[in-house]
Amino acid sequence: MEDNIFLKNKKELKLADYMQAQENGRENLGAELPVAVYRLLEYSLREELAEQFGKEEQIRLFRNAGFRAGTYFARKYLDSSLELSEFTAQLQRKLEEFKIGVLRIEKFDEDTGRAVLTVSEDADCSGLPLLGETVCNYDEGFLSGILTSYTGKSYTATEVNCWATGDRVCRFRADIDE
Ligand SMILES: [Zn+2]
Repeated sequence: MEDNIFLKNKKELKLADYMQAQENGRENLGAELPVAVYRLLEYSLREELAEQFGKEEQIRLFRNAGFRAGTYFARKYLDSSLELSEFTAQLQRKLEEFKIGVLRIEKFDEDTGRAVLTVSEDADCSGLPLLGETVCNYDEGFLSGILTSYTGKSYTATEVNCWATGDRVCRFRADIDE
């Protein structure tokens, strides 16, 4: 096969490159998709990664990918110069606008940085049967990315309750890394 000159010396494409789409790219179907399509992508990828690399690695990859997404989301859609209460209000609005979920801040200790957040109607897991494990690893990374981006401190969010563990909301504990 002949070399494609357009592919030579091409820079490595990043998340932000693929997110640059024309607003009316889907002029008839529009900007939204059913949750089932999102979950089909998420859980097929989950299954494939777990089969190829094992479950622990799959979880790590989902967290890392979520972190990239959260960092991108914060930079693109959130104003990190806002003080905490305004920032969290803006975050709540944006997560609802994008139909990711309904965020509540149960606790945010400004001294330690420790936060407890809940997401109801979560796109990833709301309505799932009892599976005996938390499944929102992508969200763990997503929230970590947003909090890290906002505070400038490295955050880790861990899901402690989930629809898949029999709860009606997803609850995340978020802490600044030691
Ligand atoms: Zn969940």
